[in-house]
Amino acid sequence: MAWEPVIGLECHVQLRTRTKMFCGCPVAYGSEPNTNVCPVCLGLPGALPRTNAAALAFALRLGVALGCTIRAESVFARKNYFYPDMPKNYQVTQYERPLCEGGALPLAREGGARAIALTRVHCEEDAGKSFHPERHGDRRWSRVDFNRAGVPLLELVTEPVLRSPAECAAFLIELRRLVRWLGVSDGDMEKGQLRCDANVSLRRAGSTTLGTKTELKNLNSIKGVERGVAAEIARQAGLLEAGERVRQATLLYDADHERLAVMRVKEHAHDYRYFPDPDLPVLHVSESQRAEAAAASPELPWAREARYRDDLELPAYDAAVLTESRDLGDYFEACAPRGEPKLASNWVMTEVLRVLKERGWSVSDLAARVPAPRFRELLARVAKRELPGPVAKQVFAWFLEEQGSVAELLERHGVRVAGGDDELLPLVRAVLDENPGPVAQVLSGRDATFGFLVGQAMKRSGGQAVPQVLQRLLRQELAARTPRP
Ligand code: ADP
Ligand code: ZN
Ligand code: MG
Repeated sequence: MAWEPVIGLECHVQLRTRTKMFCGCPVAYGSEPNTNVCPVCLGLPGALPRTNAAALAFALRLGVALGCTIRAESVFARKNYFYPDMPKNYQVTQYERPLCEGGALPLAREGGARAIALTRVHCEEDAGKSFHPERHGDRRWSRVDFNRAGVPLLELVTEPVLRSPAECAAFLIELRRLVRWLGVSDGDMEKGQLRCDANVSLRRAGSTTLGTKTELKNLNSIKGVERGVAAEIARQAGLLEAGERVRQATLLYDADHERLAVMRVKEHAHDYRYFPDPDLPVLHVSESQRAEAAAASPELPWAREARYRDDLELPAYDAAVLTESRDLGDYFEACAPRGEPKLASNWVMTEVLRVLKERGWSVSDLAARVPAPRFRELLARVAKRELPGPVAKQVFAWFLEEQGSVAELLERHGVRVAGGDDELLPLVRAVLDENPGPVAQVLSGRDATFGFLVGQAMKRSGGQAVPQVLQRLLRQELAARTPRP
Protein backbone atom coordinates (compact mmCIF):
# COMPACT_ATOMS: atom_id res chain seq x y z
CA MET A 1 0.00 0.00 0.00
CA ALA A 2 1.38 3.38 -0.96
CA TRP A 3 1.04 6.08 1.66
CA GLU A 4 1.36 9.75 0.91
CA PRO A 5 2.90 11.96 3.62
CA VAL A 6 1.16 15.24 4.41
CA ILE A 7 3.10 17.77 6.46
CA GLY A 8 2.35 21.21 7.82
CA LEU A 9 5.00 23.28 9.58
CA GLU A 10 4.65 25.82 12.37
CA CYS A 11 7.83 27.88 12.36
CA HIS A 12 9.00 30.39 14.92
CA VAL A 13 11.28 33.18 13.86
CA GLN A 14 12.98 35.33 16.50
CA LEU A 15 12.99 38.94 15.40
CA ARG A 16 16.22 40.92 15.34
CA THR A 17 14.99 43.72 17.55
CA ARG A 18 17.11 45.42 20.18
CA THR A 19 14.42 45.03 22.82
CA LYS A 20 11.63 42.63 23.77
CA MET A 21 8.10 42.58 22.37
CA PHE A 22 6.38 44.47 25.18
CA CYS A 23 9.13 45.99 27.34
CA GLY A 24 12.52 47.65 27.01
CA CYS A 25 14.62 44.67 28.15
CA PRO A 26 17.45 43.87 25.76
CA VAL A 27 17.26 40.86 23.49
CA ALA A 28 20.67 39.28 23.96
CA TYR A 29 21.93 35.77 23.57
CA GLY A 30 24.13 34.24 26.23
CA SER A 31 23.66 36.82 29.03
CA GLU A 32 23.80 35.74 32.66
CA PRO A 33 20.45 34.08 33.43
CA ASN A 34 17.67 36.36 34.64
CA THR A 35 19.51 39.61 34.02
CA ASN A 36 17.47 40.86 31.05
CA VAL A 37 14.19 41.04 32.91
CA CYS A 38 11.79 43.66 34.28
CA PRO A 39 8.35 43.75 35.88
CA VAL A 40 6.65 43.52 32.47
CA CYS A 41 8.38 40.41 31.16
CA LEU A 42 8.34 38.84 34.62
CA GLY A 43 4.58 39.34 34.69
CA LEU A 44 4.57 41.23 37.98
CA PRO A 45 1.18 42.61 39.00
CA GLY A 46 0.36 46.03 37.67
CA ALA A 47 3.07 46.09 34.99
CA LEU A 48 1.82 47.34 31.66
CA PRO A 49 3.09 46.12 28.26
CA ARG A 50 3.91 48.39 25.32
CA THR A 51 4.10 47.04 21.80
CA ASN A 52 7.53 47.16 20.13
CA ALA A 53 7.16 49.17 16.92
CA ALA A 54 10.30 47.70 15.35
CA ALA A 55 8.92 44.17 15.77
CA LEU A 56 5.75 45.19 13.98
CA ALA A 57 7.70 46.78 11.16
CA PHE A 58 9.64 43.53 10.73
CA ALA A 59 6.42 41.51 10.78
CA LEU A 60 4.96 43.74 8.12
CA ARG A 61 8.12 43.47 6.00
CA LEU A 62 8.00 39.67 6.09
CA GLY A 63 4.24 39.56 5.49
CA VAL A 64 4.59 41.77 2.43
CA ALA A 65 7.48 39.68 1.06
CA LEU A 66 5.42 36.52 1.42
CA GLY A 67 2.44 38.07 -0.33
CA CYS A 68 0.20 37.76 2.73
CA THR A 69 -3.00 39.69 3.21
CA ILE A 70 -2.23 42.25 5.90
CA ARG A 71 -5.04 42.88 8.32
CA ALA A 72 -5.83 46.54 8.97
CA GLU A 73 -6.75 45.79 12.58
CA SER A 74 -5.18 42.83 14.29
CA VAL A 75 -5.47 41.81 17.89
CA PHE A 76 -3.19 40.45 20.58
CA ALA A 77 -4.71 37.65 22.62
CA ARG A 78 -3.76 35.85 25.79
CA LYS A 79 -3.17 32.14 25.46
CA ASN A 80 -3.57 30.76 28.94
CA TYR A 81 -1.69 27.80 30.24
CA PHE A 82 0.55 27.04 33.14
CA TYR A 83 4.17 26.37 32.50
CA PRO A 84 7.09 27.21 34.75
CA ASP A 85 9.03 29.08 32.06
CA MET A 86 6.10 31.44 31.51
CA PRO A 87 5.94 33.88 34.37
CA LYS A 88 2.54 35.35 33.45
CA ASN A 89 0.87 31.98 32.95
CA TYR A 90 -0.30 33.24 29.62
CA GLN A 91 1.49 33.97 26.40
CA VAL A 92 0.63 37.05 24.37
CA THR A 93 0.01 35.91 20.82
CA GLN A 94 -2.48 36.52 18.03
CA TYR A 95 -5.40 34.21 17.61
CA GLU A 96 -8.58 35.12 15.81
CA ARG A 97 -7.29 38.20 14.07
CA PRO A 98 -3.63 37.67 13.15
CA LEU A 99 -1.58 40.32 11.36
CA CYS A 100 -1.03 38.29 8.18
CA GLU A 101 -3.01 35.61 6.41
CA GLY A 102 -2.44 33.60 3.26
CA GLY A 103 0.64 34.15 1.15
CA ALA A 104 3.20 31.60 0.13
CA LEU A 105 6.90 30.81 0.17
CA PRO A 106 8.16 29.79 -3.28
CA LEU A 107 10.60 26.89 -3.40
CA ALA A 108 12.84 26.38 -6.39
CA ARG A 109 12.98 22.73 -7.37
CA GLU A 110 14.29 20.61 -10.20
CA GLY A 111 11.95 21.34 -13.06
CA GLY A 112 10.18 24.41 -11.72
CA ALA A 113 9.07 26.24 -8.63
CA ARG A 114 6.46 25.23 -6.09
CA ALA A 115 4.83 27.72 -3.77
CA ILE A 116 4.14 26.50 -0.25
CA ALA A 117 0.89 28.07 0.87
CA LEU A 118 0.79 29.74 4.26
CA THR A 119 -2.18 29.83 6.58
CA ARG A 120 -1.04 32.78 8.65
CA VAL A 121 1.85 34.74 10.10
CA HIS A 122 1.35 36.30 13.51
CA CYS A 123 3.31 38.10 16.23
CA GLU A 124 3.85 36.70 19.68
CA GLU A 125 6.26 36.63 22.59
CA ASP A 126 8.64 33.84 23.48
CA ALA A 127 8.66 31.95 26.76
CA GLY A 128 11.66 31.59 29.07
CA LYS A 129 13.81 28.51 29.19
CA SER A 130 13.78 25.68 31.71
CA PHE A 131 16.77 23.61 32.56
CA HIS A 132 16.32 20.19 34.06
CA PRO A 133 19.69 19.24 35.46
CA GLU A 134 18.24 15.97 36.77
CA ARG A 135 19.18 14.65 33.37
CA HIS A 136 22.74 15.23 34.43
CA GLY A 137 22.42 13.64 37.85
CA ASP A 138 21.09 16.43 40.08
CA ARG A 139 17.46 15.52 40.65
CA ARG A 140 16.66 18.11 43.26
CA TRP A 141 16.44 21.24 41.17
CA SER A 142 15.11 22.57 37.94
CA ARG A 143 16.16 26.03 36.88
CA VAL A 144 14.51 28.66 34.79
CA ASP A 145 15.93 31.61 32.86
CA PHE A 146 13.53 34.40 31.93
CA ASN A 147 15.91 36.28 29.65
CA ARG A 148 14.06 34.90 26.64
CA ALA A 149 10.60 35.55 28.10
CA GLY A 150 8.99 38.27 26.01
CA VAL A 151 11.40 38.12 23.07
CA PRO A 152 9.49 38.92 19.85
CA LEU A 153 8.63 36.01 17.59
CA LEU A 154 6.77 35.57 14.37
CA GLU A 155 4.90 32.33 13.95
CA LEU A 156 4.42 31.11 10.39
CA VAL A 157 1.91 28.34 9.85
CA THR A 158 1.84 26.48 6.54
CA GLU A 159 -1.11 24.73 5.04
CA PRO A 160 -0.79 20.92 5.13
CA VAL A 161 0.87 20.88 1.73
CA LEU A 162 4.44 19.72 2.23
CA ARG A 163 5.06 16.27 0.84
CA SER A 164 8.42 14.98 2.03
CA PRO A 165 11.14 15.46 4.63
CA ALA A 166 13.37 16.96 1.93
CA GLU A 167 10.70 19.50 1.08
CA CYS A 168 10.44 20.49 4.75
CA ALA A 169 14.20 21.03 4.81
CA ALA A 170 14.01 23.10 1.62
CA PHE A 171 11.23 25.20 3.15
CA LEU A 172 13.30 25.99 6.23
CA ILE A 173 16.39 26.80 4.22
CA GLU A 174 14.37 29.17 2.04
CA LEU A 175 12.67 30.74 5.04
CA ARG A 176 16.04 31.26 6.71
CA ARG A 177 17.43 32.90 3.58
CA LEU A 178 14.40 35.18 3.39
CA VAL A 179 14.39 36.37 7.01
CA ARG A 180 18.11 37.10 6.80
CA TRP A 181 17.69 38.78 3.43
CA LEU A 182 15.03 41.08 4.86
CA GLY A 183 17.10 41.68 7.99
CA VAL A 184 14.23 40.67 10.25
CA SER A 185 16.04 37.77 11.95
CA ASP A 186 19.49 36.23 12.16
CA GLY A 187 17.76 32.88 11.64
CA ASP A 188 20.42 30.98 13.54
CA MET A 189 18.87 27.63 14.38
CA GLU A 190 21.58 26.76 16.87
CA LYS A 191 20.63 29.81 18.89
CA GLY A 192 16.94 28.97 18.62
CA GLN A 193 16.24 31.97 16.40
CA LEU A 194 14.48 29.70 13.95
CA ARG A 195 12.72 26.58 15.12
CA CYS A 196 9.75 24.59 14.01
CA ASP A 197 7.13 22.03 14.88
CA ALA A 198 6.10 19.57 12.20
CA ASN A 199 2.60 18.14 11.85
CA VAL A 200 2.63 14.82 10.06
CA SER A 201 -0.03 12.50 8.74
CA LEU A 202 -0.29 9.84 6.09
CA ARG A 203 -3.06 9.07 3.67
CA ARG A 204 -3.56 6.60 0.88
CA ALA A 205 -1.99 7.84 -2.30
CA GLY A 206 -4.68 9.55 -4.32
CA SER A 207 -6.92 10.29 -1.36
CA THR A 208 -7.92 13.89 -0.76
CA THR A 209 -8.97 13.64 2.88
CA LEU A 210 -6.41 14.20 5.62
CA GLY A 211 -5.29 11.46 7.98
CA THR A 212 -4.82 11.81 11.73
CA LYS A 213 -1.80 13.95 12.46
CA THR A 214 0.86 13.94 15.10
CA GLU A 215 2.99 16.91 16.06
CA LEU A 216 6.77 16.83 16.40
CA LYS A 217 7.86 19.55 18.77
CA ASN A 218 10.89 21.82 18.83
CA LEU A 219 12.90 20.73 15.88
CA ASN A 220 15.97 22.91 15.97
CA SER A 221 18.11 22.01 13.01
CA ILE A 222 17.48 21.37 9.34
CA LYS A 223 18.79 17.83 9.68
CA GLY A 224 16.64 17.33 12.78
CA VAL A 225 13.51 18.33 10.86
CA GLU A 226 14.37 16.12 7.93
CA ARG A 227 15.22 13.07 10.03
CA GLY A 228 12.46 13.57 12.59
CA VAL A 229 9.78 13.84 9.92
CA ALA A 230 11.20 10.81 8.10
CA ALA A 231 11.18 8.78 11.32
CA GLU A 232 7.60 9.78 12.04
CA ILE A 233 6.48 8.91 8.51
CA ALA A 234 8.07 5.48 8.94
CA ARG A 235 6.45 4.99 12.35
CA GLN A 236 2.98 5.90 11.06
CA ALA A 237 3.39 3.73 7.97
CA GLY A 238 4.29 0.80 10.24
CA LEU A 239 1.15 1.32 12.32
CA LEU A 240 -1.11 1.65 9.27
CA GLU A 241 0.43 -1.35 7.55
CA ALA A 242 -0.26 -3.39 10.69
CA GLY A 243 -3.89 -2.33 10.51
CA GLU A 244 -3.62 -0.06 13.54
CA ARG A 245 -4.61 3.56 13.71
CA VAL A 246 -2.44 6.61 14.31
CA ARG A 247 -3.32 8.33 17.55
CA GLN A 248 -3.14 12.09 17.73
CA ALA A 249 -0.07 12.86 19.82
CA THR A 250 2.72 15.26 20.51
CA LEU A 251 6.16 13.78 19.97
CA LEU A 252 9.68 14.80 20.71
CA TYR A 253 12.48 13.94 18.33
CA ASP A 254 15.85 13.40 19.93
CA ALA A 255 18.25 14.39 17.17
CA ASP A 256 21.32 13.12 19.05
CA HIS A 257 20.00 9.58 19.32
CA GLU A 258 17.68 9.75 16.30
CA ARG A 259 14.76 8.59 18.43
CA LEU A 260 11.13 9.63 18.64
CA ALA A 261 9.41 9.78 22.00
CA VAL A 262 5.72 10.34 22.63
CA MET A 263 5.38 13.34 24.92
CA ARG A 264 1.64 13.25 25.34
CA VAL A 265 -1.31 11.70 23.60
CA LYS A 266 -3.90 14.31 22.80
CA GLU A 267 -7.33 13.11 23.80
CA HIS A 268 -8.98 16.51 23.69
CA ALA A 269 -7.93 19.75 22.17
CA HIS A 270 -6.23 21.92 24.79
CA ASP A 271 -8.44 24.71 26.03
CA TYR A 272 -6.25 27.80 26.09
CA ARG A 273 -9.12 30.16 26.91
CA TYR A 274 -7.93 32.73 24.42
CA PHE A 275 -9.23 36.24 24.85
CA PRO A 276 -8.09 39.65 23.59
CA ASP A 277 -5.41 41.15 25.83
CA PRO A 278 -7.10 44.04 27.62
CA ASP A 279 -3.74 45.75 28.24
CA LEU A 280 -2.79 45.99 24.57
CA PRO A 281 -4.41 48.18 21.94
CA VAL A 282 -5.62 46.86 18.61
CA LEU A 283 -2.81 46.98 16.03
CA HIS A 284 -3.60 49.33 13.21
CA VAL A 285 -1.86 49.01 9.88
CA SER A 286 -2.95 51.78 7.55
CA GLU A 287 -3.10 51.49 3.80
CA SER A 288 -0.15 53.89 3.52
CA GLN A 289 1.94 51.83 5.96
CA ARG A 290 1.23 48.77 3.86
CA ALA A 291 2.13 50.61 0.68
CA GLU A 292 5.34 51.91 2.24
CA ALA A 293 6.37 48.43 3.34
CA ALA A 294 5.68 47.13 -0.16
CA ALA A 295 7.66 49.95 -1.76
CA ALA A 296 10.58 49.36 0.61
CA SER A 297 10.62 45.63 -0.15
CA PRO A 298 13.93 44.69 -1.77
CA GLU A 299 14.28 42.37 -4.73
CA LEU A 300 13.48 39.02 -3.07
CA PRO A 301 16.00 36.19 -3.03
CA TRP A 302 14.10 33.88 -5.36
CA ALA A 303 13.50 36.72 -7.84
CA ARG A 304 17.16 37.63 -7.79
CA GLU A 305 18.18 34.01 -8.22
CA ALA A 306 15.92 33.77 -11.27
CA ARG A 307 17.36 37.01 -12.66
CA TYR A 308 20.92 35.73 -12.32
CA ARG A 309 19.90 32.57 -14.13
CA ASP A 310 17.71 34.07 -16.82
CA ASP A 311 19.15 37.53 -17.46
CA LEU A 312 22.81 37.07 -16.54
CA GLU A 313 22.70 33.53 -17.94
CA LEU A 314 24.58 32.08 -15.00
CA PRO A 315 24.32 28.36 -14.27
CA ALA A 316 21.62 27.49 -11.70
CA TYR A 317 24.33 26.48 -9.26
CA ASP A 318 26.08 29.86 -9.43
CA ALA A 319 22.77 31.70 -9.08
CA ALA A 320 21.92 29.74 -5.94
CA VAL A 321 25.34 30.25 -4.32
CA LEU A 322 25.49 33.97 -5.13
CA THR A 323 22.05 34.58 -3.62
CA GLU A 324 22.65 32.72 -0.39
CA SER A 325 22.88 36.14 1.17
CA ARG A 326 21.92 39.57 -0.05
CA ASP A 327 25.36 40.95 0.85
CA LEU A 328 27.09 38.38 -1.29
CA GLY A 329 24.76 38.99 -4.22
CA ASP A 330 25.16 42.76 -3.93
CA TYR A 331 28.93 42.44 -3.80
CA PHE A 332 28.97 40.13 -6.79
CA GLU A 333 26.92 42.57 -8.84
CA ALA A 334 29.03 45.54 -7.81
CA CYS A 335 32.24 43.70 -8.74
CA ALA A 336 31.14 42.30 -12.08
CA PRO A 337 32.51 44.30 -15.03
CA ARG A 338 29.92 45.00 -17.69
CA GLY A 339 29.13 41.91 -19.71
CA GLU A 340 31.27 39.60 -17.56
CA PRO A 341 28.93 38.02 -14.99
CA LYS A 342 30.38 34.53 -15.34
CA LEU A 343 33.92 35.74 -14.77
CA ALA A 344 32.83 37.63 -11.64
CA SER A 345 30.79 34.65 -10.48
CA ASN A 346 33.79 32.35 -10.78
CA TRP A 347 35.93 34.71 -8.76
CA VAL A 348 33.31 35.24 -6.07
CA MET A 349 32.56 31.54 -5.76
CA THR A 350 36.22 30.58 -5.46
CA GLU A 351 38.47 33.42 -4.21
CA VAL A 352 35.89 35.42 -2.26
CA LEU A 353 34.18 32.50 -0.56
CA ARG A 354 37.54 30.96 0.28
CA VAL A 355 38.77 34.14 1.94
CA LEU A 356 35.51 34.55 3.88
CA LYS A 357 35.81 31.01 5.14
CA GLU A 358 39.52 31.10 5.95
CA ARG A 359 39.36 34.42 7.78
CA GLY A 360 35.89 34.11 9.25
CA TRP A 361 34.97 37.42 7.60
CA SER A 362 31.59 38.73 6.59
CA VAL A 363 31.10 40.13 3.12
CA SER A 364 31.32 43.64 4.54
CA ASP A 365 34.62 42.81 6.25
CA LEU A 366 35.94 41.83 2.85
CA ALA A 367 34.40 44.81 1.09
CA ALA A 368 36.17 47.10 3.58
CA ARG A 369 39.51 45.77 2.28
CA VAL A 370 38.47 45.18 -1.27
CA PRO A 371 35.81 47.71 -2.20
CA ALA A 372 33.84 46.64 -5.24
CA PRO A 373 35.39 49.18 -7.67
CA ARG A 374 38.86 47.92 -6.81
CA PHE A 375 37.87 44.33 -7.45
CA ARG A 376 36.00 45.33 -10.60
CA GLU A 377 39.10 46.95 -12.04
CA LEU A 378 41.03 43.72 -11.51
CA LEU A 379 38.29 41.64 -13.12
CA ALA A 380 38.03 44.05 -16.04
CA ARG A 381 41.75 43.60 -16.71
CA VAL A 382 41.38 39.84 -16.49
CA ALA A 383 38.46 40.05 -18.92
CA LYS A 384 40.59 42.07 -21.35
CA ARG A 385 43.28 39.42 -21.01
CA GLU A 386 45.74 41.90 -19.67
CA LEU A 387 46.64 39.78 -16.68
CA PRO A 388 47.50 36.09 -16.56
CA GLY A 389 45.38 34.12 -14.06
CA PRO A 390 48.14 33.51 -11.49
CA VAL A 391 49.16 37.17 -11.51
CA ALA A 392 45.53 38.26 -11.07
CA LYS A 393 45.15 35.90 -8.09
CA GLN A 394 48.32 37.33 -6.62
CA VAL A 395 46.94 40.85 -7.00
CA PHE A 396 43.75 39.78 -5.23
CA ALA A 397 45.86 38.43 -2.36
CA TRP A 398 47.71 41.79 -2.17
CA PHE A 399 44.34 43.55 -2.11
CA LEU A 400 43.65 41.90 1.23
CA GLU A 401 46.81 43.23 2.81
CA GLU A 402 47.73 46.43 1.00
CA GLN A 403 46.38 49.67 -0.42
CA GLY A 404 46.78 50.60 -4.05
CA SER A 405 45.44 50.03 -7.52
CA VAL A 406 46.29 47.05 -9.69
CA ALA A 407 49.02 48.99 -11.48
CA GLU A 408 50.51 50.31 -8.24
CA LEU A 409 50.62 46.85 -6.70
CA LEU A 410 52.28 45.32 -9.76
CA GLU A 411 54.82 48.11 -9.74
CA ARG A 412 55.42 47.87 -5.98
CA HIS A 413 56.07 44.16 -6.22
CA GLY A 414 58.15 44.44 -9.36
CA VAL A 415 55.83 42.31 -11.46
CA ARG A 416 55.97 43.19 -15.11
CA VAL A 417 53.12 41.81 -17.11
CA ALA A 418 53.96 41.14 -20.72
CA GLY A 419 50.63 42.02 -22.14
CA GLY A 420 50.44 43.86 -25.44
CA ASP A 421 50.64 42.33 -28.89
CA ASP A 422 53.53 44.64 -29.74
CA GLU A 423 55.58 43.16 -26.99
CA LEU A 424 54.62 39.55 -27.57
CA LEU A 425 54.64 39.30 -31.33
CA PRO A 426 58.43 39.30 -31.76
CA LEU A 427 58.67 36.64 -29.08
CA VAL A 428 56.05 34.47 -30.79
CA ARG A 429 57.85 34.81 -34.13
CA ALA A 430 61.14 33.84 -32.53
CA VAL A 431 59.62 30.69 -31.05
CA LEU A 432 58.22 29.69 -34.44
CA ASP A 433 61.55 30.37 -36.15
CA GLU A 434 63.43 28.28 -33.63
CA ASN A 435 61.06 25.30 -33.84
CA PRO A 436 60.66 24.43 -37.52
CA GLY A 437 59.93 20.76 -36.75
CA PRO A 438 56.98 21.31 -34.44
CA VAL A 439 55.72 24.10 -36.68
CA ALA A 440 55.67 21.73 -39.65
CA GLN A 441 53.80 19.17 -37.57
CA VAL A 442 51.13 21.65 -36.53
CA LEU A 443 50.81 22.88 -40.10
CA SER A 444 50.30 19.34 -41.32
CA GLY A 445 47.41 18.93 -38.91
CA ARG A 446 49.00 17.57 -35.71
CA ASP A 447 47.34 20.04 -33.40
CA ALA A 448 48.62 18.28 -30.27
CA THR A 449 51.98 19.91 -30.91
CA PHE A 450 50.41 23.36 -30.67
CA GLY A 451 50.52 23.08 -26.87
CA PHE A 452 54.27 22.64 -27.06
CA LEU A 453 54.64 25.91 -28.94
CA VAL A 454 52.45 27.72 -26.39
CA GLY A 455 54.65 26.32 -23.64
CA GLN A 456 57.80 27.55 -25.37
CA ALA A 457 56.38 31.02 -25.85
CA MET A 458 55.21 31.15 -22.22
CA LYS A 459 58.67 30.16 -21.04
CA ARG A 460 60.21 32.87 -23.14
CA SER A 461 57.91 35.46 -21.59
CA GLY A 462 59.13 34.43 -18.17
CA GLY A 463 55.62 33.21 -17.32
CA GLN A 464 54.27 36.75 -17.57
CA ALA A 465 52.17 36.51 -20.69
CA VAL A 466 48.48 35.74 -20.76
CA PRO A 467 48.11 32.26 -22.30
CA GLN A 468 45.07 33.23 -24.36
CA VAL A 469 46.97 36.12 -25.94
CA LEU A 470 49.91 33.87 -26.78
CA GLN A 471 47.57 31.32 -28.29
CA ARG A 472 45.87 33.91 -30.42
CA LEU A 473 49.17 35.32 -31.69
CA LEU A 474 50.56 31.84 -32.37
CA ARG A 475 47.47 30.87 -34.36
CA GLN A 476 47.69 34.11 -36.31
CA GLU A 477 51.38 33.65 -37.11
CA LEU A 478 50.96 29.98 -38.00
CA ALA A 479 48.14 30.86 -40.37
CA ALA A 480 50.48 33.33 -42.06
CA ARG A 481 53.02 30.54 -42.54
CA THR A 482 50.59 28.01 -43.97
CA PRO A 483 51.77 27.22 -47.51
CA ARG A 484 49.06 28.11 -49.99
CA PRO A 485 48.17 25.37 -52.40
P1 ADP B 1 -4.06 22.30 15.70
O1 ADP B 1 -5.45 22.73 15.93
O2 ADP B 1 -3.75 20.91 16.16
O3 ADP B 1 -3.04 23.30 16.13
P2 ADP B 1 -4.08 23.36 13.07
O4 ADP B 1 -5.24 23.11 12.19
O5 ADP B 1 -3.95 24.68 13.73
O6 ADP B 1 -3.94 22.19 14.11
O7 ADP B 1 -2.78 23.13 12.16
C1 ADP B 1 -1.52 23.18 12.70
C2 ADP B 1 -0.55 22.74 11.62
O8 ADP B 1 -0.81 21.39 11.29
C3 ADP B 1 -0.67 23.50 10.31
O9 ADP B 1 0.63 23.69 9.79
C4 ADP B 1 -1.46 22.57 9.43
O10 ADP B 1 -1.12 22.75 8.07
C5 ADP B 1 -1.02 21.23 9.90
N1 ADP B 1 -2.02 20.18 9.73
C6 ADP B 1 -3.33 20.23 10.03
N2 ADP B 1 -3.91 19.06 9.78
C7 ADP B 1 -2.96 18.22 9.31
C8 ADP B 1 -2.92 16.86 8.88
N3 ADP B 1 -3.99 16.09 8.90
N4 ADP B 1 -1.74 16.36 8.48
C9 ADP B 1 -0.63 17.10 8.49
N5 ADP B 1 -0.61 18.37 8.87
C10 ADP B 1 -1.75 18.93 9.29
ZN1 ZN C 1 11.29 43.18 30.44
MG1 MG D 1 -3.11 25.48 15.76
